[in-house]
Amino acid sequence: MENIVSKTQLTYKTLAISLTFLFSSVVMAKPNVTIVATGGTIAGAGADATNSATYSAAKVPVDTLINAVPQIQNLANVNGVQALQIASESISDKELLTIARQVNELVKKDDVNGVVITHGTDTLEETAFFLNLVIHTDKPIVVVGSMRPSTAISADGPLNLYGAVALAASPESKGKGVLIFMNDSIFAARDTSKRINIHTNAFGSQWGALGMIVESKPYWFREGVKRNTSKSEFNIDQIKGDSLPLVQITYGSDSMTPIAYDAYAKAGVKAIVHAGTGNGSVPNYLVDTFNKLRSGGMQIIRSSRVADGFVLRNAEQPDDKYDWVVAHDLNPQKARLLTALALTKTTDTKEIQRMFWEY
Ligand code: ASP
Repeated sequence: MENIVSKTQLTYKTLAISLTFLFSSVVMAKPNVTIVATGGTIAGAGADATNSATYSAAKVPVDTLINAVPQIQNLANVNGVQALQIASESISDKELLTIARQVNELVKKDDVNGVVITHGTDTLEETAFFLNLVIHTDKPIVVVGSMRPSTAISADGPLNLYGAVALAASPESKGKGVLIFMNDSIFAARDTSKRINIHTNAFGSQWGALGMIVESKPYWFREGVKRNTSKSEFNIDQIKGDSLPLVQITYGSDSMTPIAYDAYAKAGVKAIVHAGTGNGSVPNYLVDTFNKLRSGGMQIIRSSRVADGFVLRNAEQPDDKYDWVVAHDLNPQKARLLTALALTKTTDTKEIQRMFWEY
């Protein structure tokens, strides 16, 4: 009898130990986050620690960036891949598609919970928006950069990277579209831009940040309402080759000429994003040029050189009559990317306009 009791006690004890082990390994299992490094100032190096503005971008390899912040291994199992080593002003469609394909492969893997992309800040907003449109996943994708090179006193890269990994590792970041993380703030890829080219608080959105990170904990305050990632009709899997339909931007001012517009048309540009004055306005002396180009098949997208607000359709200019598209609140560089993706599917201006309302 005594023997049976002690055997039963032993079995309960073994069960309890196994359950505790199982519970703690489930509770304590760290997510897996991959850092895709592409270059930029976050991987920049200067001659001296006092060089915060004079330096070469895209010098430091991904493993060095990761090893500089050993604390990120407490947040997640972090590994790195070196996709590119480039200053982001030199990114073209080819590099953009390379980054997108690499991120796409990663998010498809069961053992990857989140992806961080380190990127130059100059065109960070473009890459983030492009990924937001073409990657079908709910897993967190976070794009991060820095304003000071890794060698500078008070370099902002390490803390930005730490926060970006925390964000990518957090289950709360799932399904929120591609995120930009800079200077403690969490932003939505679609409406965030580089607004200051000197300070560490370089990024902003007219609609505000989504949240903040304090000591690796994300605090969320709002969510975007526009289509993105898994709800997007664009998909990197369906884009072939290493270029997108050719779309270029022109900048509005007083005293313009048709020269650039005609030259673009001659060069085979499929759409022009006109970064017009005010409400994306077109000077009266260029309306005939625009309409001639539109009749020849060129798409005219009216965006604005004004950073905030949004372009109203059929206000001062009769877009319906001229068959032009308005970029809504997307800035010219983001409008360029959405137009290029739209042109992979349609040349119908009504469809393109719908896309601008929805994304
Ligand atoms: N020119 C750099 C780049 O975009 C600037 C930066 O990363 O802050 O790569």
